[in-house]
Amino acid sequence: MNSFGYYPESHPQSCQYISWQDQLPHIIQSVDYPYLPIGMRRSYGDSCLNNDGALLIMTGLNKIMSFDRNRGVLICEAGITFQEILSIIVPEGFFLPVTPGTQYITVGGAIANDIHGKNHHKAGSFGNHVRSFGLIRSDLDEILICSERENHEMFHATIGGLGLTGIIAWAEISLITISSCMIQSRTEQFHGFEEYLAISKRQETECDYSVSWFDCFSGDSQRLRGLYTSGNFTESDNEEAPDTTIAIPIHAPEILLNRSTIAVFNELYFRKQLKKVQQSIMHYTPFFYPLDAISDWNKLYGKRGFLQYQCVIPFEHARDVISEMLGLMKKKRMGSFLVVLKSFGEIQSKGILSFPMPGLTLAMDFPMRGMETLTVLNQFDDIVSMAGGRVYPAKDARMSSEYFRKWYPGYELMQRIKDPKIESTFWNRMMR
Ligand SMILES: Cc1cc2nc3c(=O)[nH]c(=O)nc-3n(C[C@H](O)[C@H](O)[C@H](O)COP(=O)(O)OP(=O)(O)OC[C@H]3O[C@@H](n4cnc5c(N)ncnc54)[C@H](O)[C@@H]3O)c2cc1C
Repeated sequence: MNSFGYYPESHPQSCQYISWQDQLPHIIQSVDYPYLPIGMRRSYGDSCLNNDGALLIMTGLNKIMSFDRNRGVLICEAGITFQEILSIIVPEGFFLPVTPGTQYITVGGAIANDIHGKNHHKAGSFGNHVRSFGLIRSDLDEILICSERENHEMFHATIGGLGLTGIIAWAEISLITISSCMIQSRTEQFHGFEEYLAISKRQETECDYSVSWFDCFSGDSQRLRGLYTSGNFTESDNEEAPDTTIAIPIHAPEILLNRSTIAVFNELYFRKQLKKVQQSIMHYTPFFYPLDAISDWNKLYGKRGFLQYQCVIPFEHARDVISEMLGLMKKKRMGSFLVVLKSFGEIQSKGILSFPMPGLTLAMDFPMRGMETLTVLNQFDDIVSMAGGRVYPAKDARMSSEYFRKWYPGYELMQRIKDPKIESTFWNRMMR
């Protein structure tokens, strides 16, 4: 559907649908309230919300405009999802250069958060593979073409720019080639941070993709136990895609989300692998997108929902920071099912507000328990900041304005060049 113009429930006006095409720049100029372009709203925090204005849902703009198979270059509208793109390019032997843990995101969202994937150590973040895009701003009559050569500053401000510089209308992306849709996957148990580092060093040389999970109850970093998964695309005769999706019909009762149930889950998850090393050939969907197989998985966290905390810590401080965070969680009787550890490599992100930097990135989900949870996450911020790290805005709904300004000094340039009519709840919170 070629339409946009969704007003949140709180907004006095009712839903509007407007054909975008050539009219969009003119329509944008005529609106007199703040708006925010959004994609699939898969950001965990408030960077895709606009409590004081309108949300422009971009998913209607989902056409492939050109697909150059010789050069491996795709030009598409920015509201197209990764799932839609993959359904077209995978059968032709191509894949997206970088993908996050869900395929239900749009190209516009991927650029605006400069998303990273399991291959950061080899490929950098998504913005490193964007050749150019078209930007619609409320203060310009025409679509602004941005690339390394044209409108260079706007190009770098839009990558990781949280949707603030304008509406990304279309993008030109470099793809990678694959030998089949199957992945040769390898999962290895580790005990202790030293073993994690040794496996990581070896597997990151051998494999394009890697990520690990660890049990947050296993103790400090000396006793950490977890599973390190890595993989490469491989040739295979059997290219069958899994077709099972489980749905979570209701919000789980909060009583299920306590330290003991999380500890039991972690024990079972670790022990599901009986051997030290397990190998298999699997379709790319369960490898990259395990959570996509459980629709409405967020309901598992109950009605009050959850907060995800994702930070990056310079390598030299990672072990101490992880120990300190686990110690604090133990003291406060907090736990997380999902604890993901992954290294970011040396390839520099292009965006002035991009999150990735060399170091270890740690992501954890916490059921929301009000102030109790927020206080601990604020303490995490202090620990991370002291170590020279930072927190991912795409996953945030609570970081302080002071820390944002310290971690992302590019905010000053953003203040100067952002689209005057674009606002988000996140940005307003940070600039208060
Ligand atoms: C299960 C799961 C796993 C995830 N794993 C990862 C991961 O591994 N790595 C990672 O980096 N992220 C990860 N994420 C987060 C997700 O990839 C990002 O938040 C992504 O940006 C969401 O895209 P979206 O289309 O839903 O955008 P939205 O959430 O709707 O919007 C995100 C931002 O993009 C802007 N935006 C959207 N479209 C446009 C447009 N056309 N023009 C201008 N601005 C626009 C919005 O204003 C907003 O600031 C994960 C999320 C989930 C739910």
